Amino acid sequence: MKQNIFYPPSRTLMGPGPSDVPARVLQALAKPTLGHLDPCFIELMNHIQKLLRATFLTKNPLTLPISAPGSAGMEACFVNLVEPKEKVLICQNGVFGTRMEEIVKRIGGQAILVKDDWGRAVDPEKVEDALKTHPDTAILAFVHGETSTGALSDAKILGQLAQKYDCLSIVDAVTTLGGVELQVDDWSLDAVYSGTQKCLSAPPGLSPVTFSPRAVEKIKQRKSPILSWFLDLKLILQYWDDDSNKRTYHHTAPVNGLYGLLEALTILQEEGLEQAWSRHKRMHNLLKKRLEKLDLQFMVPENERLPQLNSIVVPEKLNAEQVRAYVLEKFNLEIGAGLGPMAGKIWRIGLMGASASINNVSLCATALEESLNMA
Ligand code: PLP
Repeated sequence: MKQNIFYPPSRTLMGPGPSDVPARVLQALAKPTLGHLDPCFIELMNHIQKLLRATFLTKNPLTLPISAPGSAGMEACFVNLVEPKEKVLICQNGVFGTRMEEIVKRIGGQAILVKDDWGRAVDPEKVEDALKTHPDTAILAFVHGETSTGALSDAKILGQLAQKYDCLSIVDAVTTLGGVELQVDDWSLDAVYSGTQKCLSAPPGLSPVTFSPRAVEKIKQRKSPILSWFLDLKLILQYWDDDSNKRTYHHTAPVNGLYGLLEALTILQEEGLEQAWSRHKRMHNLLKKRLEKLDLQFMVPENERLPQLNSIVVPEKLNAEQVRAYVLEKFNLEIGAGLGPMAGKIWRIGLMGASASINNVSLCATALEESLNMA
């Protein structure tokens, strides 16, 4: 740090997010700031909404980026859709399912938990049993890709269960959007939220969300007020509703952040969604090959793995934190630590968005090989 000017080091980001941000996105962020009601900016907002629909694979009119990180998208879904005392069935197989429980309790909902081991996908049979036991469940909530462990759950089957038992689904797609298949309309998902700093490779700070017409109807029919002013979608829509030509002020949008998001979504469309999903899978397979040669083990069973978040068991002879510090210092490479009960037990290696590249896989395998040799 010189004279209060900050020069960040140029790292390779292979943790649980943020991922590497391409130069094109960084350049977009540096474009001149416009007023958030400038006609040119409003054009850009329409464009972002179109690209978000194309990324979520939905026609949902209510699709927009919340002006805050993924946690705000999560909270927006729950505060808008859950009324006090309603039953919310929450699938818990890692940290982010526990956050859902915390939010539901704070807003006066009744959280019913379906727990699976950390490191395993959500078991749809257990979910169906719980839905049979609680036929008055209003919402089924689950994390598509649990970033705390790297387990990928079957959002299609869980979405079908929500439909079958006549409840709405809330889906955490923070780590999955752009990295693995996610079909909001075809899988009949109702409220889906994501984050910009994972497989979209934009900086952190925005949370794309999409709500089905069924979810919008529920919000319209609410009997109790929405507990958050900032996240009240009826108010946010005064600014983001692209049906009206009269966008009005709700809050000052993060203008430059939205330039970055537009560029990141454009890059994803240029590559093609399906191509991006298969690149993540290919890079995961390559990493797996390299790490297995080093006798490193994955925490999650092979058929339940999230390609973009690889939880690797730390060998007993190594100190997890020392290795992370070493690869950061020597290779300028960030890998993630274990969260909560997994702290010190696993490393979380992200292959998200632009970070899912052959160069990154090579660098990471070399850095870990060197760390193992030093032990
Ligand atoms: N949900 C999942 C699955 C996540 O991985 C994260 C962040 O890592 C969040 C929610 C919260 O997102 P944010 O940290 O952007 O608030």
